[in-house]
Amino acid sequence: MRKYVIMGVQGSGKGTQATLLARDLDLVHINVGDIFRWHVQNHTKLGAQVRRTMRAGELVDDELAGSVVRRRLDEHDWNFGFVIDGFPRNATQAEFFLESFDIDGVIHLDLPDDEVRRRVLARRLCSQCGMDYNLIAHRPRNEGRCDVCGGQLVSREDDTEHALAARLRDYHAKTNPVLDLFRRKEFVFTVDARPDKHTVQKAIRQRLDLPPYQEPAESG
Ligand code: AMP
Repeated sequence: MRKYVIMGVQGSGKGTQATLLARDLDLVHINVGDIFRWHVQNHTKLGAQVRRTMRAGELVDDELAGSVVRRRLDEHDWNFGFVIDGFPRNATQAEFFLESFDIDGVIHLDLPDDEVRRRVLARRLCSQCGMDYNLIAHRPRNEGRCDVCGGQLVSREDDTEHALAARLRDYHAKTNPVLDLFRRKEFVFTVDARPDKHTVQKAIRQRLDLPPYQEPAESG
């Protein structure tokens, strides 16, 4: 059983790295932001509660975030473990987490703010099928159109300069204390998030003493 938390500022590649790790090691990838987005898109009661907060790039309240995580982990579909992405984001959430679940490590992806800004403002999402693009690293073949379904590419609602500035402020003010808290328990493995995704994944595997990562042959 392997239980990890992956942390890093928006655009640090948390989702990508968690996906690569989960795929090879049969872990369940739990993305708290995606769970909230699902609720907003499906117009659930919870979605209505969090929509405005999310749009402003602010954190939803801790109790709500904690209960979403608990409900997800209570499904117990993670026989080989999980990698949780987007939680905990402040000291209260970290305390809840440490009381409720024992974890094997916190993967901390380290990325400077100016690189965050460059990456996040280049993110695009297909409005029809949800496929992710990035105008720096993964451009669509036809500008503004999805390669898969031809749908229109849009920015995520909260990927604006204004929302990003709020998220960076929040991140530094609230998440750094979380890292300090975990560091006191020697849980934190910091990895440089600036290189390409394969290099970062290799570094994560090394740091966590996991089976080595096999880079796909077709990757460039
Ligand atoms: P993300 O995709 O991780 O950027 O999350 C999108 C939005 O979901 C955030 O801007 C918050 O509004 C909300 N959210 C995600 N995770 C949390 C969390 N741990 N605590 C509070 N709000 C969260």
